[in-house]
Amino acid sequence: MTKYVYDFSEGNRDMKDLLGGKGANLAEMTNMGLPVPPGFTITTEACLEFLRKGGAPPEMFEGADEHLARLERVMGKTLGDPNDPLLVSVRSGAKFSMPGMMDTVLNLGLNDGSVSGLAGQSGGDVRFALDAHRRFIQMFGKIVMNVPAEAFERALDEAKRAKFEGAQDTDLGPDDLATLIDRFRAIYREHTGKDFPQDPKEQLRLSIAAVFQSWNGKRARDYRRQNKISDDLGTAVNVVAMVFGNRGDDSGTGVAFTRDPSTGEKVAYGDYLPNAQGEDVVAGIRNTLPLAKLEDLDPKSHGELLEVMDVLEKHYRDMCDIEFTIEKGKLWILQTRVGKRTAFAEWVMAYDMVEEGLIDEDAALLRVDANRLEELFKRRVATQGSEPIARGLNASPGAAVGKVVFTADDAEARARAGDRVLLVRRETTPDDYHGMIASQGILTSAGGTNSHAAVVARGEGIPAVCGADAIKIDVATRSFNANGTTVNEGDVITIDGSTGDVFVGQLPLEESVLEKARSGDTEARNERIWKAFERVMRIADERRVLRVRANADTPDQSSNARARGAEGIGLCRTEHMFLGEERVDAVRQMIFADTPEEERLAYDALQPLQRDDFVGIFRAMSGLPVTVRLLDPPLHEFLPDLTTLSVEVALAEERGEDASEKEHVLRKVRELHEANPMLGLRGVRLGIVKPGLYAMQVRAICEAAAAVKKEGGDPRVEIMIPLVATRPELEQMRTELEPVAAEVLEREGVELGHVEWGTMIELPRASVTAGEIAGSADFFSFGTNDLTQTVFGFSRDDIGKFVGMYEERRLVPANPFVTIDRPGVGRLMRIAVEEGREANAELHVGICGEHGGDPSSVMFCHELGLDYVSCSPFRIETARLAAGQAAVGAAESASK
Ligand code: PEP
Ligand code: MG
Repeated sequence: MTKYVYDFSEGNRDMKDLLGGKGANLAEMTNMGLPVPPGFTITTEACLEFLRKGGAPPEMFEGADEHLARLERVMGKTLGDPNDPLLVSVRSGAKFSMPGMMDTVLNLGLNDGSVSGLAGQSGGDVRFALDAHRRFIQMFGKIVMNVPAEAFERALDEAKRAKFEGAQDTDLGPDDLATLIDRFRAIYREHTGKDFPQDPKEQLRLSIAAVFQSWNGKRARDYRRQNKISDDLGTAVNVVAMVFGNRGDDSGTGVAFTRDPSTGEKVAYGDYLPNAQGEDVVAGIRNTLPLAKLEDLDPKSHGELLEVMDVLEKHYRDMCDIEFTIEKGKLWILQTRVGKRTAFAEWVMAYDMVEEGLIDEDAALLRVDANRLEELFKRRVATQGSEPIARGLNASPGAAVGKVVFTADDAEARARAGDRVLLVRRETTPDDYHGMIASQGILTSAGGTNSHAAVVARGEGIPAVCGADAIKIDVATRSFNANGTTVNEGDVITIDGSTGDVFVGQLPLEESVLEKARSGDTEARNERIWKAFERVMRIADERRVLRVRANADTPDQSSNARARGAEGIGLCRTEHMFLGEERVDAVRQMIFADTPEEERLAYDALQPLQRDDFVGIFRAMSGLPVTVRLLDPPLHEFLPDLTTLSVEVALAEERGEDASEKEHVLRKVRELHEANPMLGLRGVRLGIVKPGLYAMQVRAICEAAAAVKKEGGDPRVEIMIPLVATRPELEQMRTELEPVAAEVLEREGVELGHVEWGTMIELPRASVTAGEIAGSADFFSFGTNDLTQTVFGFSRDDIGKFVGMYEERRLVPANPFVTIDRPGVGRLMRIAVEEGREANAELHVGICGEHGGDPSSVMFCHELGLDYVSCSPFRIETARLAAGQAAVGAAESASK
């Protein structure tokens, strides 16, 4: 028979799958001898059964009854006893903490009879008992029976107002509470059509079912999607003997952290609310006191609490977050877990704890989240005492200043005209995408951290504040009002996507400490966060097996990447070298050439320009490999837009002007026009069709390498052919190009120690025939941008319009252009690595698609055994960190 119910003494902290985080930790603390009220846990398996079958398995009720009887024995009290009742709380608790997302019922067991028993237990404190009763009806009504919370809150407010203006709930006396309870019962009846249940067992059954059901509530589902927690885990239910923090001034309740969760500082931190129950703290009904005040109010409990905190931190070897209650001077610990913290605090704590010897270096490395590292480098708003006019959710980190616009079209138009704009909308839809990416920042008045706006903003690295509901947009007057301040279209505002604050006007933006330190600021280098960064990164570098290269196209980008720890260039895209006034002319000459002679002249013009580009890059990366990719994009990208040009020609003809030159260009543009340029004449196909093009590039690369070598540098050249689908394509290119390289090097009298020829693997066919292709390649580099595009058939340029919806509906596990789609794209990669290496043991393999800087994808690349990942310079540190974490076996985030 399946065991669905565990006493706290039967579990431990490793049983989170079954008992949930709260249950497992309550069990752990019970076994450590800490003052935890007795109770039992109903397992997540019971929840899953319940949700599958629409009802709880009979063994579960039997188990719960048995454990309840045992709890009654331990406590010497019975649920519902009119003389000396046991009261319990029913608390949700999933494997991963989902704060406030699921339900909890307190004071269960109260009914018209037991309320007097409770008064008796508390030395005749009738007020306390009545207050507990009204709370129970309120909570049970709201959570178990879905009675609107406002109905009870309104009645409570009325009762307080009737007492006197400004009265607090503690000012209500027994008579007031008795009247309020009658009112609450009536509200319950109005909304449910039934009387409030008197039978405590029925109360318990209904509450357990409600907690199970709350697993599938909207809040909980949204939270799980945002935090990548699986829907299949279910929640456990903890039934715990009640202790009361609302039994007078010698009682209270609070939350304590063993270190400061926002700064990481090693100080006890928390809030305390005298004479209150837990939900009062959460609801913010009364202002809490800082934890340190407890020392004055109740030094004994305070001292005990600090001791417990110390024991817990040493036991868990991490910052713990603790919920506690003091009942008439007796301290009870109601919950603990490893506490959530800011990205900043995460680094400081990891550093401090490894320095203190509390954790080892591997543990310190795993304590920081590679996904949040970039956040620490982002700018913040220097508020200098300015008050925000509104506050929303910190949906995408970073700060932004811009002129307010209200439509995506306006955003795009004004940005094109050179304005820095900030898009303000109630919410965004896929149709707004073009305006979103044209904006400095995004502000919405509705929607959560998983809204379309938030998902797109994070994906694009645009700061965003979402769900700032104080902002009331008036479309008619093109303005918004926030708490009395009116902001018109064109006015400047500042948002901080890391805090959720919205300010009027242009506030100064402040570089982060890490960014300052990286630029050499000595003061910043003395800060703890920088020391933490340096130490943890050093650990990551020592542990990682993957090398980290950069995608860099210019000497500046190359030096920047090297300063961030890049160990070479994994992708130097040469297309930008074909842009710019002087170059476009030569490129067009090449495209328009009617004779081989004309074409050669164009190459002669381009070659020296290309060579100079490469010289700077080889210098910046001396001693490290540089993978130069020969030209990849379709040629029409270097020509004017077909429609614009057609209009110009038509207008010129109408005006009787000489349009022959433009007509010539138009003819070429028409000739090159492709219905589907991403799948057209690009990549290696260009090399095949225009043999002089790649030869010119190879000549420029080799001349540059020779020049750098002659000046004492150490250029390491890797030449990469893009978009190969078949081995003969690559073979043909090598047959044509290798002699070109040899000829240049011979002419220059230079021998290079490192010249390799390889290809990108960015088409499904290349992946599945990698065994063949590897016979002609020294290296592979996965172009996972194109590979994802061709595997899914999703256009990488247009996916932004609907990927938010796809993620929301879980049609894809994550945006596949951000995180490698393991079952599809990943499977092809695995085939290519295995079959490629089998055919060519010397083959080295990397990745240069955008995924090379995404922590989860880096982890996958480690598992595949790639030699390196290559990513944008600004993500180098993230990739180094993720590679280090992968090497010490970070738990997969995907396994959540
Ligand atoms: C790729 O396709 O992943 C790649 C790196 O090439 P590009 O993004 O330039 O097409
Ligand atoms: Mg590509």
